[in-house]
Amino acid sequence: MCPEEQLSAYMDEELNEEERLEIESHLAHCQSCRLLLNEFMELKQSFSAEMFALAEPAGFENRVMQAVAHESKIRNLGKLWLLVPLLAAVVVILLTIAAWPVAVHFMNGALVIGKALLFTIPHAVSSMPVVAGVTVALSLTVLVVSLLSLRRLLRSATV
Ligand SMILES: [Zn+2]
Repeated sequence: MCPEEQLSAYMDEELNEEERLEIESHLAHCQSCRLLLNEFMELKQSFSAEMFALAEPAGFENRVMQAVAHESKIRNLGKLWLLVPLLAAVVVILLTIAAWPVAVHFMNGALVIGKALLFTIPHAVSSMPVVAGVTVALSLTVLVVSLLSLRRLLRSATV
């Protein structure tokens, strides 16, 4: 009596020691079971080769690598945007250094205007409280809105 049903289990190493020895001693003198086992093994090999081919079709790795490269390129472009404010700051600093005498002049002018405003604003506020109030409110609104949009911009840039 040939243990044909157990050959598959034997091939998959699912038998216990006793069953395994039994099969092996049977295989030693039964050619038809040896042939059957060979057939099983070939079937299993071609099956797993097919599974492998399905799991990893030709060029799959290449396509993955290309996709990854493409993705990282997009991410680098996204990060470049973060350099824009930095670049702007550098340009401003360089321009300030290059145009230092002009800048000093300008700052003196600004200081004069600021001093003048400092003297004028309290007077203007007391004389035009409604207009001044509206102006302050408008300025605060603009400030808050620009801060909010800046925060949103920063958040979208970092995500
Ligand atoms: Zn047999």
